Amino acid sequence: MATATFRFHGALGELLARERRGVTFVTACARAATIKHAIESLGVPHTEAARLTVNGQPATLSRIVREGDAIEVFPHESGALDEAPLFFADAHLGGLARLLRMLGFDTAHDHALHDRDIVALAGRERRVLLTRDRELLKCRDVLRGCFVHALKPEAQLREVAARYAIERHMRPFTLCLHCNLRLEAIDKREAAGRVPASIAERYPEFARCAGCGRIYWQGSHWERMRAMLGASLAVRL
Ligand SMILES: [Zn+2]
Repeated sequence: MATATFRFHGALGELLARERRGVTFVTACARAATIKHAIESLGVPHTEAARLTVNGQPATLSRIVREGDAIEVFPHESGALDEAPLFFADAHLGGLARLLRMLGFDTAHDHALHDRDIVALAGRERRVLLTRDRELLKCRDVLRGCFVHALKPEAQLREVAARYAIERHMRPFTLCLHCNLRLEAIDKREAAGRVPASIAERYPEFARCAGCGRIYWQGSHWERMRAMLGASLAVRL
């Protein structure tokens, strides 16, 4: 056993037992435990640790914990990515998946997959695995993962938006909310006959999902979604 002190910064504290939040504490780690193993046994999946220091020096998750180490763990700070992130929302995050698709983020979501298949698919397609299941994020094969703290979809969206600074990659209303496929613009004549006549008359632009055939237009439902997303993220869509 090695006894070390730990300090988890920022929102990482929420993943710890209550008495360990916001304080430096001492704990015994399993013999030859890596820092990954040590922090995960305290409740913090490796995906949530953006960086860490040991005795004031930068260190990696594979470092072995030694007697007397002072370990500090820091959360991710908001950072824009060069490319739009791809997501995989686990079975419990259907509402969040829908909101991300509304904003144009390719978000896979499948109720039927087992954990090992989710991890494999997310890895293969370089998707950020969004989940409230900490055990899933502790899997070493999860290279990109994000623990979602909030319970309500709009608050979950704000968390993801903050961590990945997604605003600059938003392409609202370009994906099918059901299939996650890119919509194709179609002209009024093509839409006529597939939407009520009053709708075909009133709206100039339509889009179609090649997967399910649904037709989308900028009606009252669209207005409500736009207002809700804008208010959630405090941006103008
Ligand atoms: Zn579709």
